[in-house]
Amino acid sequence: MCCGPCSIYPLQRVLEGKYEVHGFFYNPNIHPRKEFIKRLEATKKLAKLMQLPVIYSEDYEPEPFFAGLSGTDKKSLPLSERCTHCYRLRLQATAEAAKAGGFEFFSSSLLYSTFQNHESIIEQARVAEQKSGVRFFYEDFREGWQAGIEASKEMELFRQNYCGCIFSKGERGLLSPRNKKEVRGRRKTEKEKAKKFD
Ligand code: SF4
Repeated sequence: MCCGPCSIYPLQRVLEGKYEVHGFFYNPNIHPRKEFIKRLEATKKLAKLMQLPVIYSEDYEPEPFFAGLSGTDKKSLPLSERCTHCYRLRLQATAEAAKAGGFEFFSSSLLYSTFQNHESIIEQARVAEQKSGVRFFYEDFREGWQAGIEASKEMELFRQNYCGCIFSKGERGLLSPRNKKEVRGRRKTEKEKAKKFD
């Protein structure tokens, strides 16, 4: 679970499948601490509303996120490299937690966001699946994008206005030309792919 709002629709879907579901909150990418706490609290509020047991990594520990980017000029890292690292970190932790807890599958609320690189998330989840031996549950949760937004408003959950890391906070409403091009290109490709399935 990356936050409350993005978790609603994926949870509704997997709960429809009559699975016994546990949440897992591990987000060392979020910056700064007060934003981390807001998203943690929103996740707790949702968990309470949905009566969902959740394993929380509650301490604000962004080191693993930054450690994975060390040795590079972090601010000039292409979005694709930075986000791949971010997905890898969180999905591997999720798969390992699932393994430790004896769960059969793991999945991610990241698959809900139309702003994320969906293909890269799937790729990193498959790697985590192989490493952990826990099966990856895939569904294109983006189909519930609007329903999730409306539900989060009804529940009065905190709704963030940037992806999470320090870089995305800086890019909010002010993407650099290089990143703008990359984000636009990525969204265009994803829209084209989505059309093929219409
Ligand atoms: S933009 Fe989002 S997905 Fe990419 S590195 Fe930052 S927090 Fe992670």
